[in-house]
Amino acid sequence: MEFASPFSSETYEAVPRVEIPDDLGLRAVCLDIDDTLVDFSAAGRRALAAMIGRDDMWPVWERLTELHVARVVADRLDYASMHRQRTKSFLDELGVAVSDEDAARFERRRAALVQCHWDVYGDVLPCLEWLRAAGIALAAVTNASGAHQRKKLDTLGLSRYFGHVAIAGEVGAAKPDPLIFHSACAALGCDPAEAVHVGDKLEADAAGAVRAGLGGVWLDRHGRCESDRDTDVQVISGLDELPSVLVADLGRAGVPVPR
Ligand SMILES: [Mg+2]
Repeated sequence: MEFASPFSSETYEAVPRVEIPDDLGLRAVCLDIDDTLVDFSAAGRRALAAMIGRDDMWPVWERLTELHVARVVADRLDYASMHRQRTKSFLDELGVAVSDEDAARFERRRAALVQCHWDVYGDVLPCLEWLRAAGIALAAVTNASGAHQRKKLDTLGLSRYFGHVAIAGEVGAAKPDPLIFHSACAALGCDPAEAVHVGDKLEADAAGAVRAGLGGVWLDRHGRCESDRDTDVQVISGLDELPSVLVADLGRAGVPVPR
């Protein structure tokens, strides 16, 4: 199949050479954003290290982020308050007590630094081009804040690929809640059984999608594959492997097929 590519010849060569079948049997693909499309952890880690002068506190930041995002999804916090409270909790663990104003200033500076380091993985654009050429509708499905994620997709030139962006705070449910997967499918006009979701979190993304009736693909970029993993979940180590998995294992069946 031929289609125009806006990318360099080098990138174009990386387009997966998987022939698109006539009967793919798949109408939509949902993709997580952070650490699936965008190397978010690296950007966040570098920004945090620059702010505090040490590189060993990222796991603490991640843990506090999960806790505070859960409070946003439960409708107990808005995102601005969440960002401020997360920063205060984090600095408290470092033994530093700060005012609300100082926490807000820290967060603004940190967020600006993170944006400086946003980067799209090299396998993303070729994969999105293949999916678009296959006529598959795309949704981004994220647990982070809407304004932030839409700006990220815009800034990185990814918005044009997505027919819908499902935001946990707007839907009122976060992955792995089936509701957010079903809302994305409804927005794209397909049934869950006609869709696949791909993301870097085994439980929240891949296993959650399978329980919601979609196909689930775990993007295991760092080779963490667990031997006792959910057998209904497909595992790939890069998005360059996604087309072959969709064609071989998930597409025609329209439902998850164990390997
Ligand atoms: Mg992610």
